[in-house]
Amino acid sequence: MKRIPPLRYIATSILVGLSLAASQAFAGLQPLQIRIFVHQDVKESVEYIDYNYMSHWAKAMKNISGRDVTFEYITEANAITTMNYKNDNLEVPVEELKTHYLQYDFAHPVEGDEFLQKGLLLTRYSINDDVGGVAYDYGKVGIASLVSYSFPAHELGHLFGATHENSKAGWCDTYMVPRRNSFKAQCYGFSEANERVIGERLDNRP
Ligand SMILES: [Zn+2]
Repeated sequence: MKRIPPLRYIATSILVGLSLAASQAFAGLQPLQIRIFVHQDVKESVEYIDYNYMSHWAKAMKNISGRDVTFEYITEANAITTMNYKNDNLEVPVEELKTHYLQYDFAHPVEGDEFLQKGLLLTRYSINDDVGGVAYDYGKVGIASLVSYSFPAHELGHLFGATHENSKAGWCDTYMVPRRNSFKAQCYGFSEANERVIGERLDNRP
């Protein structure tokens, strides 16, 4: 029992530190705030995921928009991180995720512009035999399996308005090429056309 007061004090100071950092970040362009839910079936560590799957996307988005990208990794949000995402009908898991996400967001609100805030569920397996991820154009949430290093970037691309039609397959495939060919190189970036679409939409935000 004696340990409770010091623990509380630590918790309070962490919260203060976070809110100060947030207001400092908002002095300029607001960052893209991405909540990454890591499904319980994922074996990779958060550090591995951040380095191999997310950092190249953050760099691409910073180049396009001038904004920082913050990732909040969440490994225990039961309704989300344990949900059954496998389905032949893609609308079923993405709608279920959206419902749970809105509840989570209501319980854990964050400061900032809502368009810049998205949620992504990372999974070990594909959604079905054909599909490695799903998201609506300009949607709030998406699902991406870790089968390919570019899947999370692809689904986040949809959430910020990038399209398959604007993708470019050259000596390497840009993020939004709809079918990942594992024999081809990945560019780890968007096509110029998708960069324009993403950039124009983000220019209007705070
Ligand atoms: Zn797609």
